Amino acid sequence: PLMAGLDTVGELFGAGKMFLPQVIRSARVMKKAVSVLDPYLLDEKSGGVRSNGKVLMATVKGDVHDIGKNIVAVVLGCNNYEIIDLGVMVPVDRIIETAVKEKVDIIGLSGLITPSLSEMTHVAQEMDRAGLDIPLLIGGATTSRLHTAVKIAPFYEPGVLYVPDASKAVGVVGALINKDTRAETVARVRAEYEQVRADREAADTARKLMPLAEARANAPKINWDGYTPPVPAKPGVHVLENVDLNLLRQYIDWTPFLHTWRLPGRFPQVLDDPEVGPEARRVLDDANTMLDELIAGGELKANGVYGLFPAAREGDDLVLFTDDSRSTELKRVPFLRQQRRSAGSRPNNSLVDFVADRESGIPDHVGAFVVTAGLGAEVAAAARQADDDDYRSIMVKAVADRLAEAFAEYLHLQVRREFWGYAPEESLDNSALIGEEYRGIRPAPGYPACPDHVSKQALFELLDAGEKTGVELTDSCAMDPAASVAGWYFSHPEARYFGMGKIDNEQVADYAARVGLTVDEAARWLDANLI
Ligand code: SAH
Repeated sequence: PLMAGLDTVGELFGAGKMFLPQVIRSARVMKKAVSVLDPYLLDEKSGGVRSNGKVLMATVKGDVHDIGKNIVAVVLGCNNYEIIDLGVMVPVDRIIETAVKEKVDIIGLSGLITPSLSEMTHVAQEMDRAGLDIPLLIGGATTSRLHTAVKIAPFYEPGVLYVPDASKAVGVVGALINKDTRAETVARVRAEYEQVRADREAADTARKLMPLAEARANAPKINWDGYTPPVPAKPGVHVLENVDLNLLRQYIDWTPFLHTWRLPGRFPQVLDDPEVGPEARRVLDDANTMLDELIAGGELKANGVYGLFPAAREGDDLVLFTDDSRSTELKRVPFLRQQRRSAGSRPNNSLVDFVADRESGIPDHVGAFVVTAGLGAEVAAAARQADDDDYRSIMVKAVADRLAEAFAEYLHLQVRREFWGYAPEESLDNSALIGEEYRGIRPAPGYPACPDHVSKQALFELLDAGEKTGVELTDSCAMDPAASVAGWYFSHPEARYFGMGKIDNEQVADYAARVGLTVDEAARWLDANLI
């Protein structure tokens, strides 16, 4: 009867009759019950509790994000699968060795940042070379059905399946573990992905990208006549150490937090939603209790660094100078430009368009920042995990992520009002801040307007951010701790976010030369743009 209970939780969740946080909370009770009843539940043949099958889970090499992976692991655990969780930054050799040694039934890969997408392709190729016959599941924020179909599935015959979230994982794993349904499931998905690839190819042929030179000639017409860029009140690099977490928590945007827990809707309206409201209130209460606990215990630390530099645009490069004479280059950071051809006369954007052209002689500035609230988060989460408390362990990471974003919001506000000082009178409430109703933007390397994570290296060097904040870049340019945010500051009133979209091989080669990478290396960094 207990095992029947375990199945039910997974099924109710899969059927949308239970909210994710309820499932994760129930996991602890289940684990405790199983450990108490363990001696009575032994499977006579194997000497252990009978499980539905073994699933290996890993966040790929170079990536440190694991909230999503941990959620899937707990949900599958509730459905009585045995989980072998190899953690984060797991090299392919360890994945394959463990899969073979433990005779796992399924391998699940997770990753959040775009370089992890190419690492997943690499894992699939190596699994093929090793001759494995274990279905491969793909999940994580930047993964998609399209990417899985185009870039991963063709390399691994036994089956590659994209799993959008935990609620779908239960059904997919069930279908793959059952010998009667595995072949048919893999065949169905294979045919589906075949179609996705064909559609993609047709769309690619239909959609002509603009040659790079033409795209550059079609840059937005920003009006610089009569515009005087603001001069920073505090130029240079500045460190913020051990920032008050009680201050930062006031700037938290709770909507993405609720989405981490798969509760749909916007904060605060969702609190009054007849269906989701009560559960939303519960997790928010738990989050605030967790924040109280972490802050009181000094378990998390927030550090940041920002810099404001004399700057100019030269072609599609951002040039930062050592001082206001603008004669010595401190750093040159190449940016990408949109190449889409639109029906109307929409411009082809690049973030550098928001910086004054070097030739104009207009003295402009650009800023950069790195903030973290994740120092101590791993230890704090592990302490809850040691007590089998998956819910609170995941909660630690979820609130640390929120504090890091809140820190980015708070620092940006300080920069506008005081450190750069171009908006001293600004006074916006939280919802206006979240709605970004202020002047200026803080685009993050790796996100749509500047999708290359590798430019984080230049940003970190500029600020000596590793030394000053304790945040490190992995070999995929993920920030460790995960609860960290980095970005550029552009102050021009017309500065806006946009999406890069697809770029062509000509720009990849051009960009590679400017960054000092081989074309293949650059293509790997830009993988998500090329599909
Ligand atoms: N309030 C949100 C803020 C994060 S999302 C939260 O707490 O999660 C918004 C941030 O993502 C922006 O400030 C910017 O840093 C980044 N961003 C959004 N759109 C972007 C784009 N198109 N290109 C680059 N960065 C972007």
